[in-house]
Amino acid sequence: MTRDLLVLDAVTKRYRSGPPAVDGVSLRVGSGETVALVGESGSGKSTLARLALGLLAPDSGTVRFDGHDPGRLFGRAARPVRARLQFVPQHPRGSLNPALRAGEAVAFALRVHGTPRAERPALVADLFHKVGLDPALARRRPRELSGGQLQRVAVARALATGPDLIVCDEPTSALDTTVQAQVLDLLTGLQRRLGLALLFISHDLGVVRQLAHRVVVLRHGRVVEEATPDALWHTPRHSYTRALLAADTPPATQ
Ligand code: ADP
Ligand code: MG
Repeated sequence: MTRDLLVLDAVTKRYRSGPPAVDGVSLRVGSGETVALVGESGSGKSTLARLALGLLAPDSGTVRFDGHDPGRLFGRAARPVRARLQFVPQHPRGSLNPALRAGEAVAFALRVHGTPRAERPALVADLFHKVGLDPALARRRPRELSGGQLQRVAVARALATGPDLIVCDEPTSALDTTVQAQVLDLLTGLQRRLGLALLFISHDLGVVRQLAHRVVVLRHGRVVEEATPDALWHTPRHSYTRALLAADTPPATQ
């Protein structure tokens, strides 16, 4: 049994109208563990990611990252904890400042983390190597990089602060199939080499099979099934999971 890193307990979140987007979800991610969160578009995955990162507050229930409420990690004192919880978004083009060179975006994360200026260039180059990018690309702006390269920059930026857990919200769904496989290989390799924990979100069960230790299936904001990938593929218990497995073309994501 690994040490608990992220623990959600009976978390519910409702937007202004409609049923709860996340409804009584309990979930744990242990250190060094990859938990996949799977469900069709609109099932509440991104809402759950925002709750886990403390970007949204739950209406009820609790979220804890290593014992801390991630929604209350403000100020200098919280910085060391905040640094250990990172995010890779679905659309890196939207999350990277178009005016900043790729290297500057990663250096900025180091600066926020308190890394002295003089140490940043070498660390940026090292992070580019870690994610399989030529450090020369650090001089390019987002519009001069491909989707796969941008996603690698987003991973480098997440790694800059030495995280224990990275929440990845559909990190490959906007990429072509071959590039998707490369980014998945990168994340799997990093997870193993660095002992990272991942909360890996996807609408595509096929994508998570390669890297998940445990799969949590979400439907209408509720957990309908939780199992190891092998158990899920061989003996899915819920009809919804069977439908996801059978889907030839996964539903479009939001
Ligand atoms: P997923 O990531 O699985 O596609 P989301 O968490 O984005 O699901 O959305 C879950 C539900 O909450 C959907 O019905 C969606 O329309 C709704 N929703 C998401 N974000 C908002 C928002 N900011 N305001 C109102 N409703 C939202
Ligand atoms: Mg989403």
